[in-house]
Order: sequence, then structure tokens, then C-alpha cells
Amino acid sequence: MEIERVKCLIIGSGPAGYTAAIYASRAGLSPVLYQGLQPGGQLTITNDVENYPGYPEGVMGPEMMEDFKKQAERFGTDVRYGIATSVDFSSKPHKVTIDDSKVIEAHTVIISTGASAKWLGLESEARLNGSGVSACAVCDGFFYRGQDVVIVGAGDTAAEEATYLANLCSKVYMLVRRDEMRASTIMQERVKNTKNIEILWNTVTDEILGEHAVEAVRVKNLVTNETREIPAKGFFVAIGHEPNSAIFKDYLKLDENGYIRTIPGTSKTNVDGVFACGDVQDFTYRQAVTAAGSGCMAALDAERYLAALNLH
Ligand SMILES: Cc1cc2nc3c(=O)[nH]c(=O)nc-3n(C[C@H](O)[C@H](O)[C@H](O)COP(=O)(O)OP(=O)(O)OC[C@H]3O[C@@H](n4cnc5c(N)ncnc54)[C@H](O)[C@@H]3O)c2cc1C
Repeated sequence: MEIERVKCLIIGSGPAGYTAAIYASRAGLSPVLYQGLQPGGQLTITNDVENYPGYPEGVMGPEMMEDFKKQAERFGTDVRYGIATSVDFSSKPHKVTIDDSKVIEAHTVIISTGASAKWLGLESEARLNGSGVSACAVCDGFFYRGQDVVIVGAGDTAAEEATYLANLCSKVYMLVRRDEMRASTIMQERVKNTKNIEILWNTVTDEILGEHAVEAVRVKNLVTNETREIPAKGFFVAIGHEPNSAIFKDYLKLDENGYIRTIPGTSKTNVDGVFACGDVQDFTYRQAVTAAGSGCMAALDAERYLAALNLH
């Protein structure tokens, strides 16, 4: 199998990976970055991004990620197509296999593989994604201010997102599949005490209605089997995220939901020379700007690690 040795390997091409690449290339680490299945990351499936600093008029997600890429390439990042298919962090340099066909030996590895939102799997959900359907209330809630929206989910994140939406929207319908919520008691209380949130218990999504944008949601009560249509402009799915960390699980410490554990305040993992940034290690904030910030941290941590070992 072909083998190549590099100082700094970056896995993933979202805001975290490209920011790490900008810092690493400007520091002279000649980083190689593999883009994975979704070049540009999660923002390439959204339209307007209005909360990333530096774009006063907002920017389209794919365009913003193209800007990130150009900036990383300008300083010499070697951006490549390819997926990391397995790793071996048992000895140094670390080994990362790309597309099952090539091994990269890297003195430092920066993992920025992100997380994928879980979806319900309805055809209408996929068709209207970005046109009323969203998996991020903090990102997209603003677009539905003063309007009615529906949110699906019953955990802490769903409860938090429902109260966030309630501050912006006139009415929030929260669909809960069972007759109880998984969210912590304090979060449940917060939801129940918010006047403009109506919880629909034992209720699931039957179909999201609308040709080009969400117009209503047909819901079904699992106890009575009755369906009804709720007029709404936004449909938020808050049933969890899946961090893209499976290939690292034999070497890195993960939390109970699969997020890579980093030493607080750093991007360091439990393996020397392996750093993690962005959504793959962030259960809490999950925003482009926080991903970018942690990408900067990862590059600086990698650079200092190499300098201490005279490998710079
Ligand atoms: C619909 C939607 C709208 C959003 N809107 C906003 C918004 O308006 N503002 C905001 O701040 N945030 C928004 N977010 C959240 C934001 O997109 C994420 O917080 C951010 O993209 C996380 O960046 P990241 O670099 O950690 O990972 P991601 O963007 O998830 O990128 C992960 C990268 O890793 C790659 N990858 C994964 N596995 C492998 C592998 N094995 N080998 C190689 N590469 C791999 C993927 O191809 C991808 O390039 C939105 C998210 C969604 C889904």
C-alpha cells in the first residue's frame, strides 16, 4: 500500500477543519486535508447563514465554505478528495488509511469530522430541507420569528430548542412520541411553563405539507390514530446528532454519545499528537463559529506539540 509521511493531517472540511488548515499552513506545517464525503461540511446543505461574523448581509452556506477552502489553499494547504477509512494510533507516527488504499503517516492528526443530525426519514422532510425544515433552532429560528412552528423531540436538546424558538415564534407545537419526555425535570418544567409552547403527547409526524416550502404538518396521535393538520412555516427536528467518530473508537476516549473527549480548554485527546475540534467533540454549542474557534485551537496545539518534539 502507498505510504506518505506528513507533519499535519486534517480529517474533515467543515469550518473546524478549514480553520485548522489556515492556521497550520500559515505556521508552516504544510497540512494535508481530506475532505470526506461532504466537502465543506454541514453548511453546504443550508442556505442563508446570518450569524457568522464578517458577513453583515449574511452568506449562502456553500459560498462561505468555498471561501474557507480558498483561504486555506492560499497558504498552501493540500486539500484532497478522500475519506479516512481506518486509523492506527498505537504507535508514532500515527497512521491513517485513506479510501482503504493509501496510508498517511502523520506526526499530528487533527480530527474535524463533525456530526450529522438525525432525521425522521420522511420523503417530505428531505425535499423541504432548507425550505422550512431544519435541524438547528439556533441557526434557523430567526427566519420564522412571529410565525408558528413545529418541533419534534423529547430530550434536553429538544426542550432547549423549543424554549429558544418560543422566544421568537408566536407558537411552538412540540411533538412528543410518548406520554412523557426524556428531558431532565428542570427542562421539562421550563417547557411546560412557557405559555406559547403546546406539547402534543403521543404524537408523531405523519407528513410535512407544502410544495416548495413548509406550509403545515400533518400529525398523528398514536393512541387515537387520529390525524390533524397544523399550519406552520418551520419544522424543526431535534432528535439528536451522530458524531462521526466511529473509526476512532478503539483509540480515543468517547463520551456516552460518541463525542470525542478532549482535555477541557484544549483540543488534546487522550492520544499524544491527536487533536479534535468542531462538532465531533462539541455536544453543547454546535455552531460554525465555535467549530472554527476550536479548529484554531487544534492547529495551535499541534504546532506547539511539534515544536516541543523538534519536528516542526
Ligand atoms: C441545516 C443546517 C444549518 C446550519 N446553519 C448554521 C448557521 O446558520 N450558523 C451556524 O453557525 N451553524 C449552522 N449549522 C451548524 C454548523 O453547520 C456546524 O456547527 C458546523 O458545520 C460544524 O463544523 P465542523 O467543521 O465541526 O463539522 P462539519 O461541518 O460537520 O464537517 C465535517 C467534515 O468532516 C468530513 N468527514 C467526516 N468523516 C470523515 C472521514 N472519515 N474522512 C474524511 N472526512 C470526513 C465531512 O466530509 C465534512 O467535510 C447548521 C447545521 C445544519 C445541519
